[in-house]
Amino acid sequence: MSQPSRKQVKRVAQRGRYDQETIHAILDASWIAHVSFADTEGQPFVIPMLYAREGDCLYLHGSIASRLLNAVSSGIDTCLCVTLVDGLVLARSHFHHSMNYRSVVAFGKAVTVVDPDEKAAIFVRFVDALIPGRAGESRAADRNELNATTLLRFSIDEASAKIRSGDPKDDPADRALPIWSGVVPIFQRFGEPITAGDASPGVEVPASVRHLCA
Ligand SMILES: Cc1cc2nc3c(=O)[nH]c(=O)nc-3n(C[C@H](O)[C@H](O)[C@H](O)COP(=O)(O)OP(=O)(O)OC[C@H]3O[C@@H](n4cnc5c(N)ncnc54)[C@H](O)[C@@H]3O)c2cc1C
Repeated sequence: MSQPSRKQVKRVAQRGRYDQETIHAILDASWIAHVSFADTEGQPFVIPMLYAREGDCLYLHGSIASRLLNAVSSGIDTCLCVTLVDGLVLARSHFHHSMNYRSVVAFGKAVTVVDPDEKAAIFVRFVDALIPGRAGESRAADRNELNATTLLRFSIDEASAKIRSGDPKDDPADRALPIWSGVVPIFQRFGEPITAGDASPGVEVPASVRHLCA
């Protein structure tokens, strides 16, 4: 009998999605992945970090001294998770309290990007993934900065999305209880930009930031 796929959502299977469109949409709506790996002794770690997506690859970057990046770049199996929270789900019973969410679990392996021109281009993607248009408004990475940075290309071999939405799943027997039940939506929003204390006089908030906060 063949092994079930590692990406197959088993627990509440109807919440599982596997299409690229859903997976990419969740990945593009966030900035942070929790990247997990096991070291050579088998000790598991989970480390949060930024990423930028291009097709079915996620770029990860950090210091050349990063234990995580060094471990992951050695070709070991890696798993990462991206989570968006959409609401607090408040049920009539303790048991059914939950959250509405969209999440992705992706399995794959990473390789190090060594070509300096390619690294510079990926830096651009990183900055524009943080805020579209910002790379063109800021200084590009120089040779020393590129040398001080490890850049990994994580190729997604398999991925699943899981999405919970809608009302609490109260037990029928609890529905008559005089207890409020419902969802409190969670929104992520940008605040008013705060200019750096050491900013040069007269430098205005750039278009990318104005657009983000409009
Ligand atoms: C914000 C948030 C809060 C949650 N809180 C809880 C909680 O308190 N308790 C709880 O039991 N569960 C919670 N979950 C659901 C949890 O992520 C798991 O889906 C669930 O616990 C089942 O785990 P499992 O290992 O039995 O999954 P299985 O169904 O056995 O997992 C098999 C495969 O399904 C995929 N998969 C599983 N979960 C996810 C996921 N969330 N996103 C994408 N792919 C997935 C993976 O590829 C995994 O390898 C929460 C999820 C989110 C996003």
